Amino acid sequence: MVAMRIDCKHVWEHISAYIDGEVEAELRAEIDKHLETCEICAAVLDSTRNVVVLLADERVFEIPAGYSKRLHERIEREIAQDDPSKPEP
Ligand SMILES: [Zn+2]
Repeated sequence: MVAMRIDCKHVWEHISAYIDGEVEAELRAEIDKHLETCEICAAVLDSTRNVVVLLADERVFEIPAGYSKRLHERIEREIAQDDPSKPEP
């Protein structure tokens, strides 16, 4: 049984704020916990962080090779499994 588990989409939604340190302590703790167990989100964080560092550092926007391809495929698959019919209003 897993309590208080936030979802991958939650993490992606807040990933920029998380990197910038703009999320609430409670949410940050949840994201930290999620990242420990989710390799997809850990990879997303890693890639996003690299992009942010590059942006801040050299003002160059560069997405690591393979990011949009391999990672996106996995993300899409994850979304499909998690939310196949997208029943949101
Ligand atoms: Zn995740």
